[in-house]
Amino acid sequence: MSNPHPSPRRRAIATVCLSGTLPDKLEAAALAGFDAVEIFEPDLLLFDGTARDVRRIAGDLGLEIVLLQPLRNFEGLPEPKRARAFALAERKFDLMAELGTDLLLVCSSLDAEASGDRARIAADLAELAERAARRGLRIGYEALAFGAHIRHWHEAWEVVQRANHPALGLILDSFHLFALGDDPAPIAALPGARIFFVQLADAPKLTLDPISWSRHYRNFPGQGDFPLAGFLRAVAASGYAGPLSLEVFNDEFRASAPRPTAQDAIRGLIALEAEAGLAPLPPPPALEGVGFVEFALDPGAAAETARLLTTLGFARLGHIAAEPGAEVYGAGGIRFILNTAAEGLAHGHFLRHGPSVAALGLVVDDAAATLARAEGLHVSLWREPLGAFSLPALRAPDGLLLYLLEKDAVAGFWQAALIAETAPNPPPEPRWERIDHLAIALPAGAMDRFVLFYRSVFGLLPGPRTDLPDRFGLIQSRPLENREKTFRLPLNVSESPATATGRFVATHGPGVQHIALAARDIFGLADSLSARGFTPLAVTANYYEDLAAASGLDAAEIAKLAARNLLYDRDGGGEFYHFYSPAIPGGLFFEGLERRGYQGYGAANAPFRLAAQRRGER
Ligand code: MG
Ligand code: MG
Repeated sequence: MSNPHPSPRRRAIATVCLSGTLPDKLEAAALAGFDAVEIFEPDLLLFDGTARDVRRIAGDLGLEIVLLQPLRNFEGLPEPKRARAFALAERKFDLMAELGTDLLLVCSSLDAEASGDRARIAADLAELAERAARRGLRIGYEALAFGAHIRHWHEAWEVVQRANHPALGLILDSFHLFALGDDPAPIAALPGARIFFVQLADAPKLTLDPISWSRHYRNFPGQGDFPLAGFLRAVAASGYAGPLSLEVFNDEFRASAPRPTAQDAIRGLIALEAEAGLAPLPPPPALEGVGFVEFALDPGAAAETARLLTTLGFARLGHIAAEPGAEVYGAGGIRFILNTAAEGLAHGHFLRHGPSVAALGLVVDDAAATLARAEGLHVSLWREPLGAFSLPALRAPDGLLLYLLEKDAVAGFWQAALIAETAPNPPPEPRWERIDHLAIALPAGAMDRFVLFYRSVFGLLPGPRTDLPDRFGLIQSRPLENREKTFRLPLNVSESPATATGRFVATHGPGVQHIALAARDIFGLADSLSARGFTPLAVTANYYEDLAAASGLDAAEIAKLAARNLLYDRDGGGEFYHFYSPAIPGGLFFEGLERRGYQGYGAANAPFRLAAQRRGER
């Protein structure tokens, strides 16, 4: 039964998700909008203060402490270990009283000496629950995917039922469930009041032992590959009304600042709640494509960019109304704004990044709904004048401005916004069609943040992770695409500062590194651009020899490609032809391409492109 006005659920986060001191973590959680926290006990042990201090700090921030975790290796032990485990539990009860929380997380034992006898396990947990109940406390039992005897949630549930104590309930953790490939659907039939707590974590699909996977590679909902909405729907159907809490162990998150991580966390949780029908949020927009790309440049860089664009077949169409410093170049459905204005957001972007892409105009079906969704996901909205115009916009985590152009208003926008040149000379190259993709270079560790941002706000689907071998390290690439594949955004990160991506980020900061333009008749296009004075990135003879051997293309076809410095690839869907331009100031370059049913990005050719670009560097 669906409830159109679900009551707000408390949103919680485990302190282990965030970096910093315990007060840093609490502050980041509160600022991001969480209502509650799980205290991870090692964070408390490292805190230079008492549990009462933590309770006060959390209280001042408006955070409820909903759980203390973990009590490990508790159940099924032989004496004297068993007695010590109970003594340790009593010590945790003392701490809980000081923290002001009533729920202790007990996770299934990893201890090799622990008995797997379910009756023993249930008896120990019943006794613990009885001791807790005497102090007004409760015990939640969680199955770890790598527990010695209890691994599946339904095994933990069986033990909880067998112990049959009102102060003992079940704790569910989506990581452990999906790590074992378990089905969450039967959770819907559990009595919700017997579920004491629910932890949410996503993770990439990896072939790794579950302990390492769990302790290093979890991530927030929307950043991984688990079908979390189905899990959450089952949990909600059980009647569970407690907090939804994120518990994510991730090396990269622990190495980055806590506040942006906490913002990612709540964004992932809200998007997941919405997907599961538990939070009101407009659906993601239909993202039709890129209406324009705005460069932030100084006059020298603008002149160089304009020269390259002209040889690439783009015509100067005019300038933005009331902004003579913003020239517009175009061909087909592609528009570039070269903005040299000495004020405004683009100029600020120029001061920070040098010549760079400051903004994209994204074409959506419904700008108002997109803004409402973004705002609901705690994205900062922005209104930036573009000459005489003010388009609604939002900002990506790297500061890239995303203007929203409504599909039906694009033609009207250009009619009003463009002070047009009469009869541009030379005219635009007619074979250019549209922007195919924009590749964004990101700092190491930032991939998950950007996947979550574009996935949650725009409903883009992350594709497979690909490693691109640079001569100086690996570049990891992951595309984000809409279902229709009319919008494509490959994201690139590199741990190595010496790769093309690493050097771009170190020199210019994160941002758009290359823009790929789709054309028809790429052979005719290449010839036409050559006549305009365009020189593509040179491709080596070795490439064509290798291609001839690997592809089975005949000598005449290879010669046609080689004469134009065209790269070639094919996949199950078809063939792909592409070439690259030299870089403009700021390191950005263009790619021209034609897809004949092909769906990828020419990853097989990336090493050749990277090597050629390296040779061309001064
Ligand atoms: Mg857990
Ligand atoms: Mg590309």
